[in-house]
Amino acid sequence: MAMTKESSIPLGRIFNIPIGLDYSWFLIFIIFTWALAVNYFPSAIPNWTTPQYWLAAAFTTFLFFMGVLLHELGHSFVALRYHIPVKRIRLLIFGGVSEITSEPTSALSEFWIAISGPLVSLALGVAFELLSLVLPVGSPEMIIARYLADINVLLGIFNLIPGYPLDGGQVLRSIIWGVTHNNRRANLITAYVGRFIAYLLILLGVWLMFQGNLIDGLWIAFIGWFMESAASTQIQQQSIRDLLGGHTVSQAMTVNYTVLPPDITLQELADEHILGEGRRFFIIKEGENFTGVLSLRDVKKIPREAWPATLTRQVMTSVEQVNVVHPDTGLWDALEKMDQNGVNQLPVTTNQGLSGILSRENIIGFLRTLQEMR
Ligand SMILES: [Zn+2]
Repeated sequence: MAMTKESSIPLGRIFNIPIGLDYSWFLIFIIFTWALAVNYFPSAIPNWTTPQYWLAAAFTTFLFFMGVLLHELGHSFVALRYHIPVKRIRLLIFGGVSEITSEPTSALSEFWIAISGPLVSLALGVAFELLSLVLPVGSPEMIIARYLADINVLLGIFNLIPGYPLDGGQVLRSIIWGVTHNNRRANLITAYVGRFIAYLLILLGVWLMFQGNLIDGLWIAFIGWFMESAASTQIQQQSIRDLLGGHTVSQAMTVNYTVLPPDITLQELADEHILGEGRRFFIIKEGENFTGVLSLRDVKKIPREAWPATLTRQVMTSVEQVNVVHPDTGLWDALEKMDQNGVNQLPVTTNQGLSGILSRENIIGFLRTLQEMR
């Protein structure tokens, strides 16, 4: 999932995976705490003071999000067991996300990665349920344990709804993939099942709203809408994948790029090549040797006052660190590589050196041509 990266607070590492707390998470924390402090606890424990309600609510919400984190750690732990790298885990407004960087290599690994999160939630639900049974009846600890039992079971079941972007979508996809050995069919069937369920949820939401249950109705309709757009994205991606199938980087790359020496200043670069020619990506060559790349984004990281005294070589990404593709690489794989590395272009290289540049615009242009030729 491509999202802004600067909006989260690092919390540390678990299994060497960085854990980040998104600013948007505070909003959901407050909403949850508020709902518990105003509704749930006053009806469960009638004789408390307001600060007691709020304290218990905040504590319960905290434990709930610890459960969400454990759910995500479930996904990540299994991914790591299959040697699939996990970039990080984020807690945000709609719960948590494990940023698993590459697609699972087999139906079995996808199945276990997807189902592990809901299994953790269900296990937590059972554990809190058992805990509530041994705690004194009606005690605050017991009330909190009961709540956490219910919410974790609900979280586990909700995530198993078979539609993207919920875990259940991935579970369904992996099962169809495993049975049919057809990745494409698995993608499309899952997307259409997800879309069907999304419409049902939207209808249910609207019906609830007409019944006077505005908040629940809105919430369910919103989830439906969210699932519908995820299904549409999946269908669209599959059609791009179909179009790009069998085509290689060499067909879409460009050999028309700007080569710069390593010793011109950023000021010269900005005046002549960025403003003058409208370029956003540069190849740095020392003589005939490809030594690095420089993007507009790299230039913008340097304060403008420093441009006249900064050389391209000081800012460039050196060739050893650049992600490259081979001309024979499939275009879809190249596109995935761009997404994984968060870049908009890749130098195309062979043993002989640089042979071109592939940018997202090149791929979009190529897709347009393919569509017109159909
Ligand atoms: Zn999950």
